Amino acid sequence: MASTLAPDQFGPTVCVGEILVEIVATTVGNGFTEAQPLVGPYPSGAPAIFISQCGRLGGSSAMIGAVGDDDFGRVNIDRLKRDGVDVSTISIDAHYPTGSAFVRYRRDGSRDFVYNIAMSAAARFGWSDDVRRLIERAGHLHVMGSALSVPSARDVIDRAVDIVKARGGTLSVDPNIRKELKLHEATEKRFAKLVAAADLLLPSGEELERAAGVEGEVNAIRRLFELGVKEIVLKRGAAGATYFGRDGDRVEAPAFVVAEVDPTGAGDCFGGAYLTCRRLGMPAKEALTYASAAGARNVTIRGPMEGAGTREELDAFISSTERRS
Ligand code: ATP
Ligand code: MG
Repeated sequence: MASTLAPDQFGPTVCVGEILVEIVATTVGNGFTEAQPLVGPYPSGAPAIFISQCGRLGGSSAMIGAVGDDDFGRVNIDRLKRDGVDVSTISIDAHYPTGSAFVRYRRDGSRDFVYNIAMSAAARFGWSDDVRRLIERAGHLHVMGSALSVPSARDVIDRAVDIVKARGGTLSVDPNIRKELKLHEATEKRFAKLVAAADLLLPSGEELERAAGVEGEVNAIRRLFELGVKEIVLKRGAAGATYFGRDGDRVEAPAFVVAEVDPTGAGDCFGGAYLTCRRLGMPAKEALTYASAAGARNVTIRGPMEGAGTREELDAFISSTERRS
């Protein structure tokens, strides 16, 4: 169960993609067609949540993306800085506002969104000398599937994968793409290439089968190892998570018992914690415990990254919270 991931000292974990603020409706119901109470701005964006959790756990980490020259941008940069993330490759766009997502939960648990991403600063960054210098010393690249729909992120990821891998760094991929969602052919190809190059794959539910391109959990796991993936952790929400190793190892991680307040960001915190613990040298089982705690703790607090925990906070959570058997 030794990690195949490049150790923390080899260079920072780098995440590329959308940086947003999230504004959350405090009442349950349908959409935003009437004036209503809202709370926010909360720092957000799946890649940003992931890297926030890496930083809070003491992993060396850096973020590539962009915000506007506005308070929503400052909310994000200040948060990531406080979490210990290197923010020097977050650019500040002079002309476009910081990206945003308004979210309201419906009675059945589904969500309505109003997004401003494609036409915001979140989609306006690219390869630069600063980005190249960071990538040339990066130890690990984490790719969020959601970032692949942002052309600027796609371009940076394409270049970064080859450079990081060539210097002996490693790659993790969170598909973060719903099964039904049909991607453009070029994006689909890029996604398949990333999956095959992944040292660590972090799918959630049916994303496993989508990434493998075959039906059934056992078949999907087998296929992914054939493709070259080194390690897989399957996220199952409140039902926990499972680690699969190439050598046939399997470790179950029962979920912690919590009252869910806001499910957004659980998968990102889980992934950031798992990756960081592995890069810091923990065996899979121990890393899974921290990851499960990070995911569970995050759903108990409103706001997508408000519940990301430090090592001390997660230790306290683990010792005071019951786990399902
Ligand atoms: P996201 O909605 O952020 O994309 P995801 O689908 O990628 O999330 P989940 O499986 O929902 O990922 O959550 C990741 C992990 O967090 C789970 O495997 C579990 O350990 C923990 N977790 C999530 N929700 C709960 C919950 N309600 N109770 C306890 N643990 C939870
Ligand atoms: Mg997910």
